[in-house]
Amino acid sequence: MIAKVVVDIPNDAVDKVFDYIALDDTEVGMRVRVPFAGRTVLGYVIEMSEHTTLESDKLKTIIKNLESVPKLKPEILKLCLFLAEHFFLRLSDCIKLALPSCVRLDNQHAQNKYTLSLSYDIDTAINIVGKRAKNQLALIASLNDQGDLDFQKAVELFGRTAVNSLIEKGIVLKNASRVMRLSYSESKQTVKNVLTPTQQHAVNTIKNQDRTFLLQGVTGSGKTEVYMTVIEDALAQGKTAIMLVPEISLTPQMMNRFNSRFPNQIAVLHSGLSEGERYDEWDRIFTGEARVVLGARSAVFAPVENLGVIIIDEEHDSSYVSESNPRYDTHAVAEYRARYNKCPLVLGSATPSLDSYKLALDGKYTLVKLPERINGLQMPKIEIVDMLSEVLNGNVSPFSKKLLSKLTECIENKKQAILFINRRGFASFVMCRECGYRAKCDDCEVSLVYHKEDNELKCHFCGKRYRMLTNCPNCHSTNIKYGALGTERVVNELRQIFPDIPIFRMDNDTTRGKDGHKKILEQFSHTTPSILVGTQMIAKGHDYPNVAFVGILDADVSLYNSDYKSNERTFQLVTQVAGRAGRKNNDGYVVLQTYAPKHYVYRFASNYDFEGFYDREINLRKTTGFPPYSNILRILVSSVSDNRAKETIKKIYDRAVKLKELYGKDIIFLQAMPSPVKRIQTKYRYQLLTRYAPNDKITKDFYDIADFIEKDVSIFVEINPNNLR
Ligand code: ADP
Ligand code: ZN
Ligand code: ZN
Repeated sequence: MIAKVVVDIPNDAVDKVFDYIALDDTEVGMRVRVPFAGRTVLGYVIEMSEHTTLESDKLKTIIKNLESVPKLKPEILKLCLFLAEHFFLRLSDCIKLALPSCVRLDNQHAQNKYTLSLSYDIDTAINIVGKRAKNQLALIASLNDQGDLDFQKAVELFGRTAVNSLIEKGIVLKNASRVMRLSYSESKQTVKNVLTPTQQHAVNTIKNQDRTFLLQGVTGSGKTEVYMTVIEDALAQGKTAIMLVPEISLTPQMMNRFNSRFPNQIAVLHSGLSEGERYDEWDRIFTGEARVVLGARSAVFAPVENLGVIIIDEEHDSSYVSESNPRYDTHAVAEYRARYNKCPLVLGSATPSLDSYKLALDGKYTLVKLPERINGLQMPKIEIVDMLSEVLNGNVSPFSKKLLSKLTECIENKKQAILFINRRGFASFVMCRECGYRAKCDDCEVSLVYHKEDNELKCHFCGKRYRMLTNCPNCHSTNIKYGALGTERVVNELRQIFPDIPIFRMDNDTTRGKDGHKKILEQFSHTTPSILVGTQMIAKGHDYPNVAFVGILDADVSLYNSDYKSNERTFQLVTQVAGRAGRKNNDGYVVLQTYAPKHYVYRFASNYDFEGFYDREINLRKTTGFPPYSNILRILVSSVSDNRAKETIKKIYDRAVKLKELYGKDIIFLQAMPSPVKRIQTKYRYQLLTRYAPNDKITKDFYDIADFIEKDVSIFVEINPNNLR
């Protein structure tokens, strides 16, 4: 038999299928070792065939099958083939998405723990051993008392010789049991809520349907409860489930809810796991031991069989599109798997992406709504405060009068407050007031952020750290100006106003290390009154009943990102953050501070008018020719050599101009330019941007003109990028 093999070498030149003579047990989906260009390399069998076009003296034989049960299951292999074709990816890169490196490269193994037990009754055992072997007798006595004993412990207590000789004589048995490196906290069996009629209706509509659903439910409407019931139903039919969340390590609560509802059936997959933990979790899924997969984006590739439902929670979240190679869209992968298994795909959100909502209105998805909060709770009132008039009235602090009075009221009522500011550090830049000097990173074309705690300037693009200035390196003035405030400064100012109230900070700086988020959130949840200050990581999914007040300190941060999605993203962010308030009692209140109080994004968001916002925004996209009415494609070129990067983008641009001639008006926009951030980590960056009527042929052509290898230059193509920096 001939095995068609893809080799694990990240190079476009070998991105094709090679023929080898199969070994007896070679099967489709197996990892194999093959001879390749004078070396031996890892490969994956993607097909078995009787035929080859190679002459028999050219054919080589597989050296070794690396497993007896193929690691790539048929569904996953087909998925990889689909992805390679539709996202213009190398097949070997797609396989890497499906097989995490701990599995692919065999660098992790199941960890076993051994225990010893007696195989005879004590008298027989003593008889066989005889009176003189003191250590062996002591071990036998100990096993007789205690039942069994840990192998390592027995070796320490009685010596390796005694232990081994008893095992050899068959008097003592050595039993292996698998040790899982990830421990799930003891699950308190929570009471199962009786679904409301609206929730029940949603469940009935969704279950067993071979369709995609958009579940639009306001924050606190009980979406998670609906997900869990649909999953329960799938399990009852002997099926499995995948539940995706933006970043599971951010939401330990979700983890606990699932774990207590489905004890021993959950496996988690996310970026916070160690290699060993990932291996164990993946293996539990692979063998069918775990039937519910809970995880971030990459969990969509989990090797579960017989899927009964796939759920994408917070479906609008930008983390569902990867920003680096191999770039894929989680929705498309999930869609493929749902159709393969003829099961429902549920996209859930309080603020669906415009793309998804349009697909629902067009009838491609089925729209299911949960328009109200559980128990008839009101949505919290969102009050917009004009910061310009605050300044004109002499208030230059980061907190408006309204915000302070509401925050104080919340604290006096022994409740909790969340303050949101989407900027970490103390000040977004430092600058000399005399000569205009601004501290910048040596390696990146960006301002450095001041971190007061460490008295350092940090680059948020590459992580490089610098000493804080005491005076201007240029003119030696000590008159330093601080840029816009971040989380650190907010906490500082709050401590002065509320010296006795616990204040927690949650951002990338405070959540480093294992379980960083979990620790902060756990402390916060047990402390009333208290204040939590954080970046957008506090916006996602948290359900804390005592949060009564939410303050959005500078809503405009995301509004003025010069990017066609900034309105959409700001609307989502405001709605999500506001949604943390008043989830158990009718006491939620939100203050939103802005310099653009009349902006329609805030008007619609403060009225919880998603449809109104959608209509306005989708019309804007239509008249200006932006997605979903067009595709934006970016080709990003970067290199440590400015010249080489420039030459490469020029070459691509010249080819693109030919495409423009070919397609005429279908290509709405075409331009090459330096990227907004001209340099990151010592690499100069240039980009070609184009907008065109959605058309797979044009997409393919653009991918093709960027598909070449240029020494020391990297070329990256993406459609509808999440950000254009
Ligand atoms: P969402 O995911 O839409 O934000 P959740 O599922 O987290 O909403 O529900 C919000 C709160 O309401 C949670 O504390 C949840 O336990 C509770 N809840 C959900 N459904 C019900 C129900 N049918 N009866 C009582 N409480 C419920
Ligand atoms: Zn830098
Ligand atoms: Zn100066």
